[in-house]
Amino acid sequence: MNEKLQCIGCGTVIQTTNSNELGYTPKTVLEKGLESGEVYCQRCFRLRHYNEIQDVSLSDDDFLRLLNELGQKEALIVNVVDIFDFSGSLIPSLHRFVGNNPILLVGNKVDILPKSLKKTKMVQWMKERAYEAGLRPIEVLLTSAKKANEMKILLEKIEEHRKGRDVYIVGVTNVGKSTLINQIIKNTVGIKEVITTSQFPGTTLDKIEIPLEDGHYLIDTPGIIHRHQMAHYLEKKDLRIIAPSKEIKPKVYQLNEGQTLFLGGLARFDFVKGHRSSFIAYVSNDIQLHRTKLEKADDFYKKHKGGLLQPPRSDEINIFPELVRFEFSVKEKTDIVFAGLGWITVTRPAVVSGWAPKGVHVLKRKALV
Ligand code: GDP
Repeated sequence: MNEKLQCIGCGTVIQTTNSNELGYTPKTVLEKGLESGEVYCQRCFRLRHYNEIQDVSLSDDDFLRLLNELGQKEALIVNVVDIFDFSGSLIPSLHRFVGNNPILLVGNKVDILPKSLKKTKMVQWMKERAYEAGLRPIEVLLTSAKKANEMKILLEKIEEHRKGRDVYIVGVTNVGKSTLINQIIKNTVGIKEVITTSQFPGTTLDKIEIPLEDGHYLIDTPGIIHRHQMAHYLEKKDLRIIAPSKEIKPKVYQLNEGQTLFLGGLARFDFVKGHRSSFIAYVSNDIQLHRTKLEKADDFYKKHKGGLLQPPRSDEINIFPELVRFEFSVKEKTDIVFAGLGWITVTRPAVVSGWAPKGVHVLKRKALV
């Protein structure tokens, strides 16, 4: 490949190897582009032709530089998180970087939460978790980037809080930031007005700027990859299975001590000790749950991984990380969270364990529902 080939949209060096990184363009597309003399990276191509913004991810260093820059601006910071993977989508130390700038915390994907969950309760819960993480948001909002009418409310809130300043939208990858930005563009200026020129200092990335009425901008920043998300261990096809696309239907299990639940082949939950009680699984409706005896669970997994227990699919089991065990002693109603996959609510005191692929977090939190 010609190393110096640059995208005529944003100027980034074109590469054909890593679709998650800047300057990517598929090989076949590149060849066509070379013939016509118009080589765009995939991101600019999609922006031009489909009015669509793709998220690119930054290395940790670049991301820190970007965050540092935010502290030096006078702006409203809109931090988008995925309410289905709240802790997995928080940006570590964000509060230290933003300086005196206000943060509007936006919990995205509210459409997948079960209707039984009160929104006011969810907002309160997010506030508490944000405070624990050192964030003091001026407001916490729930939204769904998939719904145009929700964007109107979000834009009104942004207008209320920005007080004549610029707006920076920040978030880790997979929280739905590009979907949200695309909705905002559709609902406001239209793609023609969007500017993708100047770079974030010290990084190779261009900004996407959406002009606001008073000469200020709404600025999309690149996302950072959070390595503890399940998403990074799966193929796109599987992601569609694990990422819920519609309202989750909670599944209730009455379990006895010594029983195990498999969440596809992706995770495992053991009821180690306690009285018979209810356990409620909140995961994508497309993930099959299987119940078995704890004492047989290891063998069951070995035998059925990639088969009965999917995803991962059979051709992926060799690269899929082994499951690692975390034990929890539960006193009150508690959620055992599998980062990016969902959670199981334990309703009575118990000792339980959660297993997830090596690298993916399993954690305990006060029950949400
Ligand atoms: P980004 O990496 O933060 O830019 O995330 P994307 O915009 O690419 O979204 C990640 C995934 O979440 C995609 O599969 C989206 O379709 C999905 N998604 C984004 N917003 C929503 C939402 O509001 N509701 C639901 N159910 N899914 C969403």
